[in-house]
Amino acid sequence: MMEKTPYSVLADELFPADLPAPEQLERTYPPRALPEGAAVTRFAPSPTGYLHIGHLLGAFVDRLLASQSGGVFLLRMEDTDKKREVEDGVTGLVNDMRAFGIAVDEGVTGPGEEKGEYEPYTQSQRKEIYHTYARVMTERGLAYPCFCSSGDLDELRASQENEGVNKGYYGKWARCRDLPLEEQIERLRAGEPYTLRLRSPGDASRKIVVRDLIRGKLELPEYDMDVVLLKASGIPTYHFAHAVDDHLMRVTHVVRSDEWLASLPLHAQLFHLLGFQPPKYAHIAPMMKLDPETGGKRKLSKRKDPESAVGALVRAGYPNAALHEYLLTLLNSSFEDWRRANPGAPLPEFPFSLKKMSASGALFDPVKLEDVSKNVISRMRSSQVYDLALAWARAYDPELAALLTRDPDYAGAMLAIDRDGAKGKPRKDLARWSQLREAYAYFFDELFEASPKSASNSGILSAYIDVYRAEDDKDSWFAGIKSICEPLGYCPEVKAYKADPAPWKGHVGDVSGAVRLAVTGRENTPDLWAIMRVLGEKRVLERLKAGMENAI
Ligand code: GLU
Repeated sequence: MMEKTPYSVLADELFPADLPAPEQLERTYPPRALPEGAAVTRFAPSPTGYLHIGHLLGAFVDRLLASQSGGVFLLRMEDTDKKREVEDGVTGLVNDMRAFGIAVDEGVTGPGEEKGEYEPYTQSQRKEIYHTYARVMTERGLAYPCFCSSGDLDELRASQENEGVNKGYYGKWARCRDLPLEEQIERLRAGEPYTLRLRSPGDASRKIVVRDLIRGKLELPEYDMDVVLLKASGIPTYHFAHAVDDHLMRVTHVVRSDEWLASLPLHAQLFHLLGFQPPKYAHIAPMMKLDPETGGKRKLSKRKDPESAVGALVRAGYPNAALHEYLLTLLNSSFEDWRRANPGAPLPEFPFSLKKMSASGALFDPVKLEDVSKNVISRMRSSQVYDLALAWARAYDPELAALLTRDPDYAGAMLAIDRDGAKGKPRKDLARWSQLREAYAYFFDELFEASPKSASNSGILSAYIDVYRAEDDKDSWFAGIKSICEPLGYCPEVKAYKADPAPWKGHVGDVSGAVRLAVTGRENTPDLWAIMRVLGEKRVLERLKAGMENAI
């Protein structure tokens, strides 16, 4: 038998003998059989309930990297900090991811539900795994029990403040670092509460070099604090847990917010001490917004900017394709040129590159999002608009959903106006499905609002009723409008009118405008002939007559 070292005696005291051995874990979670260069990425949120667009940017990049390289994207729940957790937090996150259209290949799929062979993907269920490595660290003299109470630590911080030195557990401040073995064992046996701390070999006067895929080469001071690896409850801290998880889940690329840059030296040290190959890192700058009060740029905030919550964007009815496209405009400045050159190309064909990402924060600009979304919807076929708008309406506007499904052919014909390869410019009046109700209101009697202004047009409307033929093609329809112009004192040609307006009450545009106002209640619409075709004879006549009656 191997001789026991003081460290192994301590490890025996701290951990049960039957923990899985690291070699066994290596076998249970073997390197993945993936093509060369395949990226394994993970999104690792705490279950705080909902995502905002900043988180999503990271998860979106994770998905892109994995998809582009034939790799795997997994969702891991980092629930070691119970203070941050909210009720139904997992459901909120999973739903937001799903609603936003980011599919995960592996990991958490719902509360208590997971898929994938590298399970469990929820940190609170991996305690034994972390303890295996905590034990290894202890055996190697790289971890020790610390008996300092929170009161002791408060005192320590106060003294450090007085002396004006860095705060933390290190150097002469690390009281429990060099306790004699006998004392450690005695206090453990007496049942004193303890945390397990890293015995950091770092020296802050030395530098480490880490490459970040966005920021390039970073020179950072070595980490020298004895951070907590296991809390008094035996639950690991995020730093320790994520290193173990990223290794055993065979993660190759860590994409995360740049607030973690400060912890990178610690993470590098942990990977090194654990004997793990570190992943490649891409630290993303936080998303910014223009503050409406100050006009200046500031970080997008969960608290102050509820409109940036993914749930709010989905509820507003931005199609996922538009949200994805918008994120790409933020991620790579070359995206918009690519889109112009490849108007119909599917997004996955865009050659996304981390290198082209900016190290400064992208600006979340709702106006730009609206614009991108209008373009995206304008490129959709009417059947797709119908399906997506209906799915949205079913969740958020059941009355609209009922109208859309009452006569699907009618709704389809309505949505096809100025779409489906229409000549000229496709219509761009929808950026969100929540705008559909208003934009298409006049197609539904329940939503149609007659204009009181029709009152003044009764002469035109009554003349038009006589020439209106529902089956007319566009030319005959227009000829019909023109035919009533002169008798009513309107010039049938706009040009002629402009040249000499004096003899006329107005021109053909005013006549068609009167018809438009009566049948749609609006002064501006897409192609009126097409609208009237869809509305159908009965409805058009009703509205023309109602317009006249209003006049009386
Ligand atoms: N759980 C960490 C967070 O809440 C994840 C950090 C990381 O991706 O490494 O942001």
